[in-house]
Amino acid sequence: MYSATFKIVYSILLLALSSLTGNFPMLLALLLCLPTVAAMPDQHPFPDIAFKVFNEFVTQNFSSRVSLATVLLILFSLTENTDLLNLHGRQINLYLQGEKKQTISGWMKALARALEDRLGSNVKTLIKHKELPKTLDNDALTNPIAMKLDTMANVLNLMPVFAKSGKLKNKLATVSQHEIAAVHIICPASIECEDMNCKPFALAQDTHSRDIPKVTLIKGTTIYKRVPVLSGKCSHCDANYYADHEGLNQTSGRRNKIYLNSAKYIKLGHHI
Ligand SMILES: [Zn+2]
Repeated sequence: MYSATFKIVYSILLLALSSLTGNFPMLLALLLCLPTVAAMPDQHPFPDIAFKVFNEFVTQNFSSRVSLATVLLILFSLTENTDLLNLHGRQINLYLQGEKKQTISGWMKALARALEDRLGSNVKTLIKHKELPKTLDNDALTNPIAMKLDTMANVLNLMPVFAKSGKLKNKLATVSQHEIAAVHIICPASIECEDMNCKPFALAQDTHSRDIPKVTLIKGTTIYKRVPVLSGKCSHCDANYYADHEGLNQTSGRRNKIYLNSAKYIKLGHHI
């Protein structure tokens, strides 16, 4: 019975159609060599601070109108620019004679300007209303934004570490995305029963917890391990729905395996 076989497929390899190109086997081989979302040993862990602390920083430094997207853009612009944070941290940390004292480096100002370019008029939401300069000429917001970026990088512990003497101790390594990689679940694409002899009833989740297969999903250039695969069932006509095909329950009692042209996933291999 097909549904039974489906439930014991533990090594299906699924490839998101979006990453398909002409040379299919070659693409797969290359993708399998790419790094996964797992943390690499020389990576810096994702900032380990309480959400409350982050929230306090946002409330105290940004406008109350700042959007979630803007806050996340700032957060990820810091975690993705560790080379720039190293350069900034080193420059504001005086060590050798002749080095000039600066509170904000040209590196951090460059990041602030890039964010200004990206945010357009929304950039004002990074500044509290009472802190807004009277005239907004070219660079009026650059320094205050660069200062906030510096404070935020410190709150997130995203700075190089220096010894008491001022000598560089540890550079900031690339920040791991492992802890924030989303959980993926593969589901049928249909959301209602599509059997011509039925009505568009809702589909119920039809795989018992203990029988849910865990597969490897390749999406773009990232590999996700142990991704649950769920199937659906029409509560009215018992038609089964899977991520890559439908198993319509015919009145004759036969089950048809129909592969959908619109399926998002391709099953590359499985065993029974
Ligand atoms: Zn139905």
